[in-house]
Amino acid sequence: MIKKGKLIILSGPSGTGKSTVVFKAMEGRADLCFSTSVTTRPPRSGEVDGREYFFIDQARFDKMVENNELLEHACYVSNSYGTPRPFVEAQLQKGMNVILDIEVQGARQVKEKMPEAVTIFIMPPSMAELRSRLEGRGTDTPEAIDARIARAREEILEADFYEYLIVNRDVETAANEFSAIISAEQCRFDPLLAKKIAE
Ligand code: ADP
Ligand code: 5GP
Repeated sequence: MIKKGKLIILSGPSGTGKSTVVFKAMEGRADLCFSTSVTTRPPRSGEVDGREYFFIDQARFDKMVENNELLEHACYVSNSYGTPRPFVEAQLQKGMNVILDIEVQGARQVKEKMPEAVTIFIMPPSMAELRSRLEGRGTDTPEAIDARIARAREEILEADFYEYLIVNRDVETAANEFSAIISAEQCRFDPLLAKKIAE
């Protein structure tokens, strides 16, 4: 019997270190996979189509919404983002734990449809540190950084429905905490499994 994988929703202000922490946690675990989103945002330098995102235009995005190809979708700082549904469903069926790096509105949509999804919010140690990480990443204009900081404050206020909170002070600790949450969730009491073993 293949146990269905867990759907892990990770959210947190842009620049907190979500991608850095997820990819660090994935290094040591073959049971984790990352769901690559579609976005209408232009690629940043160094981003590769199909790796960080599938970069598509608004017409294609609207078509995907119309065809119900997205598990959730949202607008974030003037761009559209969405999670392709078939990949997520296929990986969960195979027993993989699937990570969605999505913002708060999308997280809410998924949690309503799939209450068994695990919700994790990640925060920087301070807003000053967030600004310095966004500046240090060097991928956003000063205006885009201001917009992301403003959105970050709103997101933190909307984040009270998440089950777990990680403060990303250092990457190693945050990745270990992320991995530990997934391990604990996999050990939740499962009456079907217990019954099967007892047969
Ligand atoms: P997000 O995916 O949340 O937008 P990134 O993973 O792109 O954020 O990280 C934003 C920047 O912060 C990157 O330059 C990354 O190297 C840096 N960073 C991530 N985690 C830490 C940390 N714990 N301490 C210092 N810098 C970090
Ligand atoms: P960025 O432009 O910095 O890569 O991402 C901006 C925000 O969009 C981040 O908070 C990220 O988590 C979120 N995001 C990325 N992909 C998706 C998605 O498929 N759906 C939703 N709702 N948010 C996403």
